[in-house]
Amino acid sequence: MSLAFSEVWRDAGVDGGSKTHPTAMMVPVKGANLVMLTGASAQLQFKPDPHFTVTEITRGNKGAMQTAKREVPELAMRSKSEDAAGPFVLMPLFGEMMGELFAREMPGRKLDDALARATSTSTRLLLVEGKRRGLGRLTVKSGGSEATMQVWVRDSRSIQTSFHFVQDIGPDGKARPRSIWQAAAASQWIARLNDIYTPQTNINFNLHAAAPLPIPQTLPDRLALDQWLPLAIKARGGAAVNVFLVGNWIGDGNDPLGSFIKATKDIVVDDHKTHDDIITTIAHEIGHLLGASVSFGHPDPAEKGFLMTTLNWRRGAHIPQAYAQHFNPI
Ligand SMILES: [Zn+2]
Repeated sequence: MSLAFSEVWRDAGVDGGSKTHPTAMMVPVKGANLVMLTGASAQLQFKPDPHFTVTEITRGNKGAMQTAKREVPELAMRSKSEDAAGPFVLMPLFGEMMGELFAREMPGRKLDDALARATSTSTRLLLVEGKRRGLGRLTVKSGGSEATMQVWVRDSRSIQTSFHFVQDIGPDGKARPRSIWQAAAASQWIARLNDIYTPQTNINFNLHAAAPLPIPQTLPDRLALDQWLPLAIKARGGAAVNVFLVGNWIGDGNDPLGSFIKATKDIVVDDHKTHDDIITTIAHEIGHLLGASVSFGHPDPAEKGFLMTTLNWRRGAHIPQAYAQHFNPI
């Protein structure tokens, strides 16, 4: 068996096994990430690189364990075991109740789970700590074989994000919410965006504002791009990312799940009834926004588990390092 790197958790900053992208990982400057090494037959030897340090984690290596516990986010997110347990659907509940459901349904990535999979002598768990921004290379030898991968050491990038819950005028002459979603959902959306983006790109989204946005007219039930653009609201208030919840959105007539509007740098999303569906759509449209300078689209249509291919988190929300280089360049 030859020496090879593989991801510890799905969509957590390790690219491996894809035909279209090289083996690579994301490591934050002054932070850490984990990668699995399979096919080891002996002591590991690492080639030094100024961008990072690498340490094998074992139950006996208390220092590395403590660093990993401190630096590697154990996220409240899907893991392989939860995927195997089958899909579940959350209806749009709000506030505390939704937070509780999430905590229960998604117990998260645990270092202990990773260590349990790295118990055989051939499978090892490596902690990679970022020291200097830039592209490094992790090369390891074990016995007669060698494996190598790219290590992208990225600074953290903070992005202020606002959610605008559009209201129009109803038949009774009063303000009418267009979306089933309310501002109370926003903090959970931010947490989930960070679950997707932080381990893969070292981008952190911060909640700038989440509030109703009243429009003093009656809008059509099915809102189209040409009706929205004249309204394209001066409500940004300093946020870099602005997401508009408009209810039933038909975009340019193709009835998309969501749209990134290049002219205004706005994201408009159709109402999705589940938290997961709406947040995956928002995360995907944010990818278009972050890559707007190169008109970033859907470069890998065959990679069904990529965030910029799919709008279904069960298929994956993977962001390879070539994409991350547009979203948060080193
Ligand atoms: Zn798209």
